[in-house]
Amino acid sequence: MILDRALSLDELQKMCAEAGVEPLEPLPSNACGEKTGGFPSSLYVRTAETTPPDDWFKNIRSYVWDDIPEVLTMDEANKIAAGYADIGINVIFPEHYRYLFAGPDDGVSWFNSPPIDLYISNMKVLVSACHRNNIKVVGHLTACCVLDTYFRNHPDQAMIDLRSGEPAYFRRYGTYMMCPNNPDFKKEYLNRVEMVVRETGYDGLMVDETEWLPAEWSICGCEHCRRLFKEQTGYDIPDYRDSLVFGNYESPVFRAWLRFRIETMGNFLSEIRGVLDNIKKDMLFTGCYCEALSPFVASYYGMDLEDMCRGHNVSFFECEPANPWSFRYAVAEASYYRAFGPSFYLGYSISPSQQFYNWAFAKTCGLHIWMFPQINIVFPLLWEKKWEKVFIDDGLLCNTAILFSSPSKNYLREAYETVNEYQGWAQALLENHIPFETVIASKLGTTDLGKYSTLILPDVTCLSDNEINKIIDYVHDGGYVVATGRTSHYDETGNQRAEPGLATLFNDDQGKGKAVYMEEMPGLRYFVPRIGGGRIGEGGVWKDNRNEAMRDLIIETATARQPDPVIKTTNIDPEIVLMPYYHASGEYKGISVHLLNCLGTRNDGIMMIPEDMAFEYTAYPSPYDYIEDDGKMKIAVRSEDVSQAYLISPDFEEVLTLDFTVKDGYCEVTVPGLGRYEIIYLVTGKKDLISDIMKGGAVTKEFPAIVPFPGVDDSTSVQKETQAGVI
Ligand SMILES: [Zn+2]
Repeated sequence: MILDRALSLDELQKMCAEAGVEPLEPLPSNACGEKTGGFPSSLYVRTAETTPPDDWFKNIRSYVWDDIPEVLTMDEANKIAAGYADIGINVIFPEHYRYLFAGPDDGVSWFNSPPIDLYISNMKVLVSACHRNNIKVVGHLTACCVLDTYFRNHPDQAMIDLRSGEPAYFRRYGTYMMCPNNPDFKKEYLNRVEMVVRETGYDGLMVDETEWLPAEWSICGCEHCRRLFKEQTGYDIPDYRDSLVFGNYESPVFRAWLRFRIETMGNFLSEIRGVLDNIKKDMLFTGCYCEALSPFVASYYGMDLEDMCRGHNVSFFECEPANPWSFRYAVAEASYYRAFGPSFYLGYSISPSQQFYNWAFAKTCGLHIWMFPQINIVFPLLWEKKWEKVFIDDGLLCNTAILFSSPSKNYLREAYETVNEYQGWAQALLENHIPFETVIASKLGTTDLGKYSTLILPDVTCLSDNEINKIIDYVHDGGYVVATGRTSHYDETGNQRAEPGLATLFNDDQGKGKAVYMEEMPGLRYFVPRIGGGRIGEGGVWKDNRNEAMRDLIIETATARQPDPVIKTTNIDPEIVLMPYYHASGEYKGISVHLLNCLGTRNDGIMMIPEDMAFEYTAYPSPYDYIEDDGKMKIAVRSEDVSQAYLISPDFEEVLTLDFTVKDGYCEVTVPGLGRYEIIYLVTGKKDLISDIMKGGAVTKEFPAIVPFPGVDDSTSVQKETQAGVI
């Protein structure tokens, strides 16, 4: 069995004792290691004087501006905004301005903004200063949370907890919760949103806490929810004590209730989007969402990314814990967020080296960094700004897709199996450097499946008739489908079908394509859960008993109809994340292959132990230490148009040109080394982007030394002696 979390010290000692392995010493008290003092000097580069890309959604380096004084003056705002612009930031999220209904007596919390007049005048100043410095501003609001004053004046607008019949109060935030189905609250809220956005000149909004809080499925039982639930489903909201309904996924009433809660929040977001669309074209609209793959979050918080993205045009991946050991899980999760278009990434950090990892992870996965100022050093985004056109991707270079249906996560008791099966397939492909995209079932109608030669359905339990027909058409047109477990056993509401919806496809006519079904779920026996806990997470120790035969089965089945893979690798370790993107920007065309070094976990008998427990993560082992017989790392990309190959990296200032050969439809480059993170850029168009950004600067062929993080003695070698520890 694969554990779903890192082990506690006691559990670990017990497991070691059972396996006859030497027990591990507890972490010494100073194990968190020396904090680094800043970022490597290679990141502070002179900005390229090229015009920025047009589409700002594809070109975001964002930061949270907190600490806004009670009255912000123009002079002060200009100075701060110019400072942000100088370090490469082009999007600001103001913090402590989340709340639109502040009264004079409301206590201080992060919801407590100034009263509305001061809110607007301060934000006007902030937006104007940012715009003067070419920075966009995205307002950060809360959806349903209110403080005492508003609640006292409008107690009738509150969410009602079915258990007590009383207004819902969320102790952790100290807020009352207003119901988005209450027409009076909605009107007040949307009016305020419209006023604030019009007056301040915000370029977009991030609306947080579109949640039913506290996170219980006993909310909301207000008169409006009761009426709407009856109108929409034909059911009355049942007694919360009725265990035949509440918590029983076989009850259609319960599933209808879960769906009602999810759709209420999605509807609210769509209405906010409507307000934005009326004000200005192309405003950015997003909302923070942690654990979009979690069945727990869906049913208790009433949140669903797929439903929320009816309103959002940018998704937002809050990753917890954000650490290098959870990279398998996090990359598969990131792929889900990216399936909705551009996406922000927030990984919490308490030191520059952790922030560096988070930034590099975001860039590798094609996400925009959203930085929360937990550390006092503002991250130097100048390196990214210099190369910003390289980061404008035109989609992942891949011909494999994994299907994910959100009802499969929301409406079945065994939904965790579905998510873990998805994870297992995604992780096996990742480790084998087979690039894949996640495709959303409800978007099948507008997805061009023709670009994929393989579509994987890992226990996709819930599918609608339309979605099933799209999959059948895909196979008839020549596509290849692999399905596992209970795929298509249920409809999109979680109702069991008399016969699996895809049964005829597996048994009968498959047209020009092929469809394979396996009852077994190999992904379940090959996935790694998140390692470590909390927001940031220290290096957890985990027991690796993944079944390698299952991995081989996954890879063999997934690649059975791919004689010409888009990418082939030699000597690239499974713990190196490899992501290839098409790149097109104006007249520039190319392929950029991102490599992120996640090496450094030692397999000690049965346990996987990170070398660098403290998550300072300054120790990036060289992949060449892991390769035997003088082998070389090689990447072959399916393209014959390559005219030049480069390697750029924030690990050093030099730009490398790489040797490559073009043969049999592939361009093969030899990778001379990998520090922490790098991009191999292959020029395939008429114009050479890298050379133009460098303005003819010098290139080298020698892989340079990595510029260390300041404040650590040796930040580039493996700390073999680091004590293995536990969270
Ligand atoms: Zn309600």
